[in-house]
Amino acid sequence: MFERLKQISLGNWILIGMILGLFFGLFLNFYVHDHFIKNIVLMDNVFYLGGNAFIRLMKMLVVPLVFCSIVVGVSSISDIRKIGTIGGRTILIYILTTAVAVTIALSIGILLKPGLGLNMAAAAQTSNVTINQTMTDTILNIIPENPLNALANGDMLPVIIFGVIIGFILAKLREETDVVNKFFEQSNKIMMAMTGIVMKFAPIGVFCLMAKTFGSLGFDGILPLAKYVVCVLIGLGIQAFVVYPSLLVVFTRLNPVTFFRKFMSVMFFAFSSSTSNATIPLNMNKLEDMGVSRDVSSFTIPLGATINMDGTAIMQGVAVMFAAQAYGIDLGTSALLTVIFTAVMASIGTAGVPSVGLVTLTMVFNSVGLPVQAIGVIFGIDHVLDMFRTAVNVTGDAICTMIVAFKNKSFDVDVFKGRKKAEKKVENLI
Ligand code: ASP
Repeated sequence: MFERLKQISLGNWILIGMILGLFFGLFLNFYVHDHFIKNIVLMDNVFYLGGNAFIRLMKMLVVPLVFCSIVVGVSSISDIRKIGTIGGRTILIYILTTAVAVTIALSIGILLKPGLGLNMAAAAQTSNVTINQTMTDTILNIIPENPLNALANGDMLPVIIFGVIIGFILAKLREETDVVNKFFEQSNKIMMAMTGIVMKFAPIGVFCLMAKTFGSLGFDGILPLAKYVVCVLIGLGIQAFVVYPSLLVVFTRLNPVTFFRKFMSVMFFAFSSSTSNATIPLNMNKLEDMGVSRDVSSFTIPLGATINMDGTAIMQGVAVMFAAQAYGIDLGTSALLTVIFTAVMASIGTAGVPSVGLVTLTMVFNSVGLPVQAIGVIFGIDHVLDMFRTAVNVTGDAICTMIVAFKNKSFDVDVFKGRKKAEKKVENLI
């Protein structure tokens, strides 16, 4: 019996933890009415502690892991043009997929009319937040004023830029900076090994996160918003299971079913934790298992966790249509184009942490003069949608990385097809 349990992979353990947490949470929600046991002991202490301790452990890894692996990745690609090509392609695909995502969401909103009949007519208030200002700041903020501050605050884009520059210089100076080179290589190994250790706690962490979410979820508020929820889920489904597989087939001819079979555990993890940032170590590791070179993923995955949020953009597109319909505001074509533009910008400018999509939604609403009070209406249900969209966000990062790695010949198809095992520097995580 014990031997059998030992044979279950960590990926499956995460899935088991997630399902058990879901059912246990629902059981508590419906059948346990003892306030002290349910809310004080379990929700506010046991599950809160278990879930958040795990998220903190994952977050603890992110900055040093990302920084070291970017430096090592870039220093091993000595050709500056190759870095430029990888960067250019990645950013282009990230922006295009996000624009497609918002467009899908707006179309669903127009077709299925999630806000119709809600009638929340109130004075629409406009704000003078200008998109230009946000865009300029977004670009400026990429350059770290103080790299140590950026590292300490976990500001991903400046950390990435600083890492790329150091990696590039190390590649140029080679022998002269041998010691520093080795230092980063070995630090990278340490961080990967640490990821392996932290991941062992994932099933328990995921169990606690799921039990807490579903144990405290209020179902009363969901019904009037059912149409909104369904629209967001349809949009996410189309993006994940139509757009991404099509891109994979068109650009790489690889089998999307194989991809999803292997990648599922990362999606489950993103779903349970609601943060693409904390999923970075896992995502990079899984892609390595699938044949993607770390030289590419160490750059594209952290970048994607920050600038590519297709799932979030879908929620924002549907939310815009929902609010416009509920308040009886007619959005013309130019307003819809503004929404696409602003949602893409919002996706670029923010880190992948829980519920950040709701915060940047204000920016999208403001850009077309929709009343921000509408956000309060969808607030209650957002936590569950956050789980689904985070799973889509990380899938988008992975698909784009696969395409870029494939085009840059940093992808081993034999490993993906299971004909060969990935040559890994550190043991498998999941
Ligand atoms: N939780 C999402 C993520 O981390 C962001 C969001 O949509 O709120 O990717």
